[in-house]
Amino acid sequence: MAIEYYNTLTRKKEKFVPIKKDKVSFYACGPTVYAPAHIGNFRTFVFEDLLHRHLTYQGFNVELIMNITDVDDKTIKASIEQKVSLKDYTQKYSSIFLNDLEKLNIKKATNYPYATEHIQPMIDLVEVLLEKKFAYIGEDKSVYFSIRKFADYGKFANIDISSLKPGARVNNDSYTKDNVSDFVLWKAYDEADGNVFWQTSFGKGRPGWHLECSAMSMQYLGKTIDIHAGGVDLIFPHHQNEIAQSECSTNQKFCNYWLHSEHLKVDGAKMSKSLGNFYTLDDIINKGYNVNSLRLFLLSAHYRQSLNFTFVGLDSMEKTLNGLVETYRTLKLMITNQFNSQTKLNEVSDDSSFEKLCLSNLNGFINSLDDDLNTPQAFSYLFLLEKEINKGISSNSLSINNLRTAKDTLEKMDSILQVIIPTFNEREKTIDKLSSFANSMIEKRKLAKQEGNYQLADSIRKELLEKGIILEDVGGNTIWKLTSNN
Ligand code: AMP
Ligand code: ZN
Repeated sequence: MAIEYYNTLTRKKEKFVPIKKDKVSFYACGPTVYAPAHIGNFRTFVFEDLLHRHLTYQGFNVELIMNITDVDDKTIKASIEQKVSLKDYTQKYSSIFLNDLEKLNIKKATNYPYATEHIQPMIDLVEVLLEKKFAYIGEDKSVYFSIRKFADYGKFANIDISSLKPGARVNNDSYTKDNVSDFVLWKAYDEADGNVFWQTSFGKGRPGWHLECSAMSMQYLGKTIDIHAGGVDLIFPHHQNEIAQSECSTNQKFCNYWLHSEHLKVDGAKMSKSLGNFYTLDDIINKGYNVNSLRLFLLSAHYRQSLNFTFVGLDSMEKTLNGLVETYRTLKLMITNQFNSQTKLNEVSDDSSFEKLCLSNLNGFINSLDDDLNTPQAFSYLFLLEKEINKGISSNSLSINNLRTAKDTLEKMDSILQVIIPTFNEREKTIDKLSSFANSMIEKRKLAKQEGNYQLADSIRKELLEKGIILEDVGGNTIWKLTSNN
């Protein structure tokens, strides 16, 4: 099946054909590092990871560039308020961001360029735009892009600029459709910028946010790229302005496929720092959640549908994930013969129908993703497979081949989702660490019971529970398990 993605540029689903066969150039707008990113931002970054992993699964060699915006209105203001250098200030938040990406199993980009380390290509771009008369220097000495000079301005964001007042300008990086006007490419130095400035032929100042992405995308990936992505709030003005600057400077199409993810919301409002209705990744972890449950939650809705964040929803995803991990763990144990409840596998004379079932669910899963990353549909194949595996395990009707195929199929699906195996691996590490402690406590409890000291036996059980270990007495033996929040 061909891969199709919804392209904001044409407002329809289109067959994905990269410029170079087997290679994909992909630019994702990264964070502005003035505070830790919130889980709304991570909805977009997880969506971009889904896209990255899906393309990789389909055999493409993906070159992904994600910029780090470490100079803009917000970072400068915050660093001055905190009386630290811009670099020290932004470094703290960019390293938190890169760490958070790792915690969420987000596949590494080829490069994470910092805006402040790419000022020269930004200056070069402004020079070209001035020379070609797409840009002009305003009375405030800032350089502006003249949107009327670009015939296509507004098309990308569905905006009509015919009623635009001549000379209307905006100096902020962020503004709404109501303020559509000439936008700033280069901001003339202002005392509020402290010691953040660069000298250029067109004056002392600093780059505007939109310019940063155009310059870094073209520097790393070339004049025309395959994919550019971000959240829907970036369609206007950010991406519209990137198109204007880039295409006017090169006379070439800037990007072939634009993908945008809808917002994560809270009670119907966009999760955002300005509204204060946000959680960081650490907030979620500190509440005792497995970070992969959040990843699963963020992936559970189609990326072009808004998703409402609730802890009830997250709780339910955590349960779903625990079930998947338990199924995967059981398969592994059965395959390695460590499973002790059913010691002997049934002799299954014809195991081909289960093999077919695994394959058809895998195909269904991948075809759903090929169809504009339809995760809800892909999930339905995963859950159907999980149900069939569990059914086969409890009726002891799976052959060793079946068990292996089931495990491989889950692994293939999870190479894109990245929730089951990371959770399983984390749990195994915890189990390894806790194993000798838990076993010695079980011994102590056994002795206490033999001596009739039931009070001590109960307190041992309680102590273990506080550490996330549950004891189960089965057939004269005691086994231990982790509680689900471990
Ligand atoms: P920023 O650091 O504000 O530039 O945002 C980084 C990324 O997060 C951008 O792609 C935004 O579109 C995206 N974003 C911001 N808020 C949300 C939200 N509530 N839900 C989904 N994506 C968001
Ligand atoms: Zn950008």
